Amino acid sequence: MTKVISLLGSTGSIGRQTLQVARELGLTVAALTANTQVELLEQQVREFRPRLAVMMDLDAADELRGRISDIPTRVMSGPGGLLTAATLEEADTVVTAVVGSVGLRPTLAAIEQKKRIALANKETLVCAGELVMATAERTGAEILPVDSEHSAIFQSLQGCRDRGEIRRLILTCSGGPFFGKRFEELEQVRPMDALRHPNWSMGAKITIDSATLMNKGLEVIEAMRLYRLPAEQVDAVIHRQSIVHSLVEYRDGAMIAQLGTPDMKLPIRYAFTWPNRAFSPDTPLDLTRCGALTFQEPDVEAFPCLRIARQCAATGGTACTIMNAANEEAVLAFLREEIGFNDIPRQVERALSRVEVKYKPELEDILEADRLARRAVRNQ
Ligand code: MG
Repeated sequence: MTKVISLLGSTGSIGRQTLQVARELGLTVAALTANTQVELLEQQVREFRPRLAVMMDLDAADELRGRISDIPTRVMSGPGGLLTAATLEEADTVVTAVVGSVGLRPTLAAIEQKKRIALANKETLVCAGELVMATAERTGAEILPVDSEHSAIFQSLQGCRDRGEIRRLILTCSGGPFFGKRFEELEQVRPMDALRHPNWSMGAKITIDSATLMNKGLEVIEAMRLYRLPAEQVDAVIHRQSIVHSLVEYRDGAMIAQLGTPDMKLPIRYAFTWPNRAFSPDTPLDLTRCGALTFQEPDVEAFPCLRIARQCAATGGTACTIMNAANEEAVLAFLREEIGFNDIPRQVERALSRVEVKYKPELEDILEADRLARRAVRNQ
């Protein structure tokens, strides 16, 4: 069980909820990192008194240093700081809640040191899944999913001793704010329309990914990597209510699911307490009040990102790296209102047609594919 955490990405939605759980469980916090939110990081540092605080932004780091000069927490900045936070000796668990492929190097470094990884950064497994899982296998580091779907699958797999008994994993998907719309209707979507998610409150990147269904595509790949299954054995199904968080179908036809209210604190808590469970002060799901639960096929005509992700998953090599990096850039461009909503899948496909896929990639090949894909989107 987790006792001391390093939290990468402490001011985002997952980061803040992680600190709530840390408070509940009485965990020690060794390091906190953030991009630019000095004020919130200062508050968190004052409460949790970590040995290290990191601001990715240089000016923000200087500002934080000035603000907390009265306490002994050391302040660092940039990717070097993030790497130090991921490898602090006293931390037994590293929570990777940073957004995007910036999480890759620190996650790999923490795995090398055999730390438990509470993985909330799905881009790491998408862009370098084979490498990350091979490293974890070599060092014996545990990777515990914080994504609600993958935690649900992990919970539904407890007691499964033979992977061969799994017929398929079924990820549930809320469908996002544009469920039921046709592709043409989505051309005019603006960032503010997409940022309204029906069931979960999340950061901007993942909210847009949920609206395009790329989030589910990334999660299909994440599940393949985590549970070592081919793409054909990972399915996605639309479940508007977000009550069933995902399922495992076994070869005898049994389906095991995890249900609950949509609340990220449960997967976070379980990643810390596994193989045990801790008390939660939150109100549990009331089955008699949650209404009807519905399931249906996703519409990949209207939401091509899910289809693209499945293709990349089947291709393997750096295809997922290229897709992920192109998607990150396209989402940023959409948020800046430089491109339209449907240009996100178009840009991802463009990058995939321009950047060559490498098989059995090393870290350098992965970083290069990431760079080239970003360039392909930026220089359109
Ligand atoms: Mg999820």
